Amino acid sequence: MIIITDIDEVLGSLIDPLIRYYNEGYYLLGNFKNPIKNLKRENFTTYSIGKILNITEEEEYKMIQRFSRSPYFKNIMPLENAVESIKKLSEKHKIIGLSDRPNYLFGDSIFWANRYFGDSLSELYLSNGYSKAMYCKKMDADLIIDDKVAHVVDCSENGIRSYLFGNDKKNYWNQNFDESEYDMIERVENWKEILERIESKDL
Ligand SMILES: [Mg+2]
Repeated sequence: MIIITDIDEVLGSLIDPLIRYYNEGYYLLGNFKNPIKNLKRENFTTYSIGKILNITEEEEYKMIQRFSRSPYFKNIMPLENAVESIKKLSEKHKIIGLSDRPNYLFGDSIFWANRYFGDSLSELYLSNGYSKAMYCKKMDADLIIDDKVAHVVDCSENGIRSYLFGNDKKNYWNQNFDESEYDMIERVENWKEILERIESKDL
């Protein structure tokens, strides 16, 4: 099987170091009218730091760019069991990373993926604003694992089976989505569950 996996909030957590980056100083630098003093993961009911902080897209872009050059960005850690599960799955399946990070992060993304996942990830792409469903189709993917509702809906509408990653209910931006209306979307909470589900299907 060809399995496509997202990076941020699926393989690793970008949000946790981003929250620390903001709380430990960035809120003083940015152009915030009423800055949130103690940003928490629970604030992310949408996966957009710009909307949460009520800043313009341009300011959000600048913030992510500064964050990516800071030591905090180097502290993106794999999620629990992600490394072991990807390694195990790669013995039987082809695993491809696909992220909608901006293109200037390609080098850093490759470096990070190699560092933690090595050969278990056979390829890595940044979708560059294109639909992930299009990538899945071009690569003949059988399954996509992603935390963003828009991506899994798009993929399922294009006939691609999708796992919506809940991260043990810590991915607050997708918690209220009702996947029961979609045949091709299943919710998964962690990597152990993904591994069990794929292995039980003996694909
Ligand atoms: Mg993601």
